[in-house]
Amino acid sequence: MSASSYTNKTFAGIKAANLDQINKKFICVYCEHILQSPTQLLCCGILLCKHCLTKGLSSRKPFLCPYCHEEHETKEASPDRGLARELNMVILTCYLCSWNGSYKDYLNHLQDMHANLECADCHEHFSTINLFEEHRQELCIHRSVPCGLPDCANSIKCYDMEAHYVTDLHQYSLIMMILQYIGSNHDKSVITNRSNIIIRELMDIQENVNLVFSIYEILLKDCDRLKTDLSQIEILLNQNSSETKKLAERNHENEKAMKELRDGTNRLEELLKATERDIEEIPSLLLDSDATVTLRFIYPNSSLFSLDSSKFRTSEYGHIFSISVRSTIEAEKWYLSIFLTLYNGEYSNLLSYPFSFPIHFVLWDQSNKQQHITYILKPDPNAPAFMRPNSEKNEEYCIKNLCPLEAITDSESAYVKDGVFFIRLFVDFFNVGENPFQSEKYLNHNEFISSEKMLTE
Ligand SMILES: [Zn+2]
Ligand SMILES: [Zn+2]
Ligand SMILES: [Zn+2]
Ligand SMILES: [Zn+2]
Ligand SMILES: [Zn+2]
Repeated sequence: MSASSYTNKTFAGIKAANLDQINKKFICVYCEHILQSPTQLLCCGILLCKHCLTKGLSSRKPFLCPYCHEEHETKEASPDRGLARELNMVILTCYLCSWNGSYKDYLNHLQDMHANLECADCHEHFSTINLFEEHRQELCIHRSVPCGLPDCANSIKCYDMEAHYVTDLHQYSLIMMILQYIGSNHDKSVITNRSNIIIRELMDIQENVNLVFSIYEILLKDCDRLKTDLSQIEILLNQNSSETKKLAERNHENEKAMKELRDGTNRLEELLKATERDIEEIPSLLLDSDATVTLRFIYPNSSLFSLDSSKFRTSEYGHIFSISVRSTIEAEKWYLSIFLTLYNGEYSNLLSYPFSFPIHFVLWDQSNKQQHITYILKPDPNAPAFMRPNSEKNEEYCIKNLCPLEAITDSESAYVKDGVFFIRLFVDFFNVGENPFQSEKYLNHNEFISSEKMLTE
């Protein structure tokens, strides 16, 4: 019996234009095209397309192999994966166009470009008759199949099968089959035994159901308890939220108070700044009508010191000065020195520079003996200290070594009294050469103490 006469040859693998040049091992012995899903008959190792093997060779038992002509209990076959791998590398030319490439890509090409076979029911497209037939006979949900029960329907659409199972016809066929099975193969005692087993199993199931129910009741109770807990929690939550609300309100009030406090603080700070400005704007000391000023210093009880006076003005819109009294050392001897500083002021542009008037410095004898220590400074017109200031103040002018430091450090010093000493200045605007401290007014010590304005640092 030849293969072609065994059944109707309605299947076909892959067609290719270069079929003649392809190694014969890749050709299906049944359809004589290139193998599709290569499958091997176990009896003789013959290779066929999977679909050719299932549908082309009979499935009757026993199986008579058309190739090795031996009879076997069943038709046994398995996919040949090794050959499938080899086949993937084979280069093919399309039988419908000029495309060529590997077998693997060729399958995609056929599906993309030449899938001309259409299932009339589901309208899916196929590139080979094999795939198309496989779909029609095994995969399409529109295909008709027999129910499988004896005496039941023999043509049901696949998508109707579930509905068919609950039809009277199918149920009836099922019962008839069971009855036939029982009637033909078993006697009554066997049936009774089976029934008893089934009853025992049912009782077991009943017990289990009861157990499940008791657990269910416990769960229900738990559930109720949880519900009450939940409602209590909700009540607590509500209380909490109202308290939180109150807290938030209080917080808001606090914030308001804080803001007011901050505003108050800001106002105070502004006031403070204004006051500071006012203080700064207090005019420096002015020379008296006799062009003198008296500067008071607190003796620091130490041989190393630097004491700054307040600023003073030569007139309301005049030059502004200050002095610093310091202990200085020269050739290992200590002296009292005075440093004079000329400042820039609001009216500096109205004044003439360099400052040229002589200034008399007098360390005042407080003992009534009139032994004042006097130094007359005649400003050097070239000294930077007396030029027009181009910053806040000029560099200091130093009156070096006014007197030995003992003059004030001596415990019997006539210049320090009650821990205080004075330096008096006279600006000689009219170049008279003498200071007014020799006059009657200054000689009367008592009057000076009682009537002079005591000027402080
Ligand atoms: Zn084939
Ligand atoms: Zn065989
Ligand atoms: Zn093509
Ligand atoms: Zn279909
Ligand atoms: Zn049925």
